[in-house]
Amino acid sequence: MARDFTFKTYTLLLSTLRNLDYEFQTLEDFLLKPKKKVIILRHDSDIWPLNDLKMASIENRFGIKSTYYFRIPWTFNIEIIKKIKDLGHEIGYHYEDLAEAKGNFKKAIVTFKRNLDKLKAIYPVQTVAMHGRPLSKWDSRRLWEKYKLEDFGLIGEPYLSINYNEVIYITDTGSRWDGYKVSIRDSVNSPYQVDARSTFDLINYFKEMNPSKPVLINAHAARWNDNLFLWWYRFFLQHAKNITKKYYKKLIHKNHSIT
Ligand SMILES: [Zn+2]
Repeated sequence: MARDFTFKTYTLLLSTLRNLDYEFQTLEDFLLKPKKKVIILRHDSDIWPLNDLKMASIENRFGIKSTYYFRIPWTFNIEIIKKIKDLGHEIGYHYEDLAEAKGNFKKAIVTFKRNLDKLKAIYPVQTVAMHGRPLSKWDSRRLWEKYKLEDFGLIGEPYLSINYNEVIYITDTGSRWDGYKVSIRDSVNSPYQVDARSTFDLINYFKEMNPSKPVLINAHAARWNDNLFLWWYRFFLQHAKNITKKYYKKLIHKNHSIT
């Protein structure tokens, strides 16, 4: 069995989707003019932006445009972000300001704007996506209970601006595609649950089901690696993390004051 979560496997996934006649849209394009049988590729750059550049180059070879969300300061590498923009991709902000400000909305919106402006100096940012921070009790999406995306020139947030009754959501959180079983914040309310654990399962799912509706795929480039040592390192680290998250999720369900 081939190793999963390598760029080779990612390339195989993209070529499968191409062969099944999917179109590809960035988040902003989808929000403005949604197509029907379409893949929206979303990438949260949590660490290692060089991996994002690698993924962006692979997509570019297929003529695919996708969306990359960067954390500040963690993955705010101007040179890399510019290169990804030049490959035709959308750039957005992967925000966690409310968690960073420990629930202080006023502080959070100030840093949100400051960070967004840093990215706007590179790309006319129109969408932002929350970074989950599983161990913080603050969900940064709550910023939008007090403030409005429009007031910052934004048209959407993938967790909040998409109707997941119409869109299939698939994420590689936990280095598996059925991670909704372990994920704390990276999940959506949707009637569709794709039963695929590995990328090879996911490829088979598309070949068999070939859904004629929008599919949002959230792939974290940092989880994908061709280097054997790093791959095993990530594998063991992820295994330990999944166990911790499962335990933590149980705790959350027990303690409603945290949710
Ligand atoms: Zn993230």
